[in-house]
Amino acid sequence: MRTQVAIVGAGPAGLVLAHLLARTGIESVVIESRDRDYVERRIRAGVLEQGTVDLLHELGLDERLRREGMVHRGIELRFDGERHRIPLSDLTGGRAITVYGQQEVVKDLIKARLEAGGQILFEAEAASVEQPVSDRPVVRFRQSGELYDLECDFVAGCDGSHGVCLGAIPANSLTVYQKDYPVAWLGILAEVAPSTEELIYAYHERGFALHSMRTPHLSRLYLQCRPDERLEDWSDRRIWDELQRRFALEGWSLAEGPIIDRSITPMRSVIHEPMQYGRLLLAGDAAHIVPATGAKGLNLAVSDVRVLADALAEWYRTGDDSLLDAYSQTCLRRVWRVEHFSWWMTSLVHRFDEDGPFEHQLHLAHLRYLCGSTAASTSLAENYVGLETA
Ligand SMILES: Cc1cc2nc3c(=O)[nH]c(=O)nc-3n(C[C@H](O)[C@H](O)[C@H](O)COP(=O)(O)OP(=O)(O)OC[C@H]3O[C@@H](n4cnc5c(N)ncnc54)[C@H](O)[C@@H]3O)c2cc1C
Repeated sequence: MRTQVAIVGAGPAGLVLAHLLARTGIESVVIESRDRDYVERRIRAGVLEQGTVDLLHELGLDERLRREGMVHRGIELRFDGERHRIPLSDLTGGRAITVYGQQEVVKDLIKARLEAGGQILFEAEAASVEQPVSDRPVVRFRQSGELYDLECDFVAGCDGSHGVCLGAIPANSLTVYQKDYPVAWLGILAEVAPSTEELIYAYHERGFALHSMRTPHLSRLYLQCRPDERLEDWSDRRIWDELQRRFALEGWSLAEGPIIDRSITPMRSVIHEPMQYGRLLLAGDAAHIVPATGAKGLNLAVSDVRVLADALAEWYRTGDDSLLDAYSQTCLRRVWRVEHFSWWMTSLVHRFDEDGPFEHQLHLAHLRYLCGSTAASTSLAENYVGLETA
C-alpha cells in the first residue's frame, strides 16, 4: 500500500489533518487501532476554542456544531461562598468558547471524510514506523491478524499519549519535560440538565470542582481527587455529596441525575522536544499533554495539525522544506504558552496536600484579584478562548 501522508490515529489531530490535506489535494490514509463505534463514543474534552470552531467552519465541517454546540460568552469562578463572572467575550473583542463534545467532533469528521471517499482504516493497529529518516518511511500495521506495510512520503504521528510513533524517535534525540501533579479529576457524565448556563470553576477548601455540560440534557462534572484513588470507592451518593459541598452557594442548587460514564484522569504536563524526526511528525497528545484544567488538549492538537498541513502543502506545491523544518519550533511556541496557562489554572484552583491556611488565603487573594482587575481577568479570558497568535 502506498499514500502520500500516513496518519496514525483517528482522534481530533489525525482527522482534522486528513481534512486539511484533502483540501489541498494531498492524499492520506488514516490508521486507527480501535473500531469506529469506540472512537465515536469516547468521552473526553468538550470545550472548543474560537480558533478551533473557526477552522471547522472554514472546512465546512460545522453544520451540526452550529446547530447543537453551545456558545458560551463567560465562565464563573466560585469561591468563598461567592460567584464571580468572567465575561470572556467582552474582554476579548467578542471571542467565545463553544461547548460541543469531542466525540461529536470526531463523529462529524469521520462521517465527512468517509463521504468524501477518504480512507480511514479502523481496527488497524500501527506496530512500528520504519525508516523515518528516509524519503520512503513505512508504517507497519496489523489488521485482522495480518501485518501490512503502508509506504508514504511522511508519517503524521497523531496516535495520542499511548501510541507507537513517539517510540520511533531514539531517546537520545528527544528532550522530555514532565510534571506530575499530586491531583486527579474524577469526571462524570450525568443524565440531568446542567444547573448552570456557563461553566463553573469552583475553588473550595475540600478541593476543586468543575461544572460543565455536553448538551442541554447532559451534565459533565469533575471533582478533584488523589491520583491513586479507585473509582469503586466512589459510590454515586459519595460523588454527588462531594459535588454538593464544593459547589454550595446560597440560593443555588445542583441537580442530580443518573451517572452514565465515570473516569479518573491524573493531571500531568508532558512535552517532547522536538516534535519531528526525519519524516515523522508528531501532533497532539502524541507530542504533549496538558492538565485538563485549561480545556486545551483538543485545541492544541488542532493547532498543531494546522501548522503541519500548511508545511506539507508548501512542500508538495514547491518542494520548499523550510516550513517543515521549522514545524516543531513553530508549534512549540504555542505548546509552551498553553502549558503555562494550564499549569497556572491548575495551581490556581486546586488544593494541594501541602497547602495549609497560608496557601488557602493566597488562593483566595489571587482569585479575588482575578475577578476584580480588568487586566488580570483579560489575561485569563484571552488565554481561555485561545490566543490568536502565541
Ligand atoms: C482519558 C482522557 C480524558 C480526557 N478528558 C479531557 C477532558 O475532560 N477535558 C479536556 O479538555 N481534555 C481532556 N482530555 C484531553 C483531550 O481529549 C486530548 O488532548 C485529545 O484527545 C487529543 O487529541 P489527539 O488526536 O492528539 O489524541 P487522541 O484523541 O488520543 O487520538 C489518538 C488516536 O490514536 C489511536 N491510536 C493509538 N495508538 C494507535 C496505534 N498504535 N495505531 C493506530 N491508532 C492508534 C487512538 O485509538 C486514538 O483514536 C482527555 C484525554 C484523555 C486521554
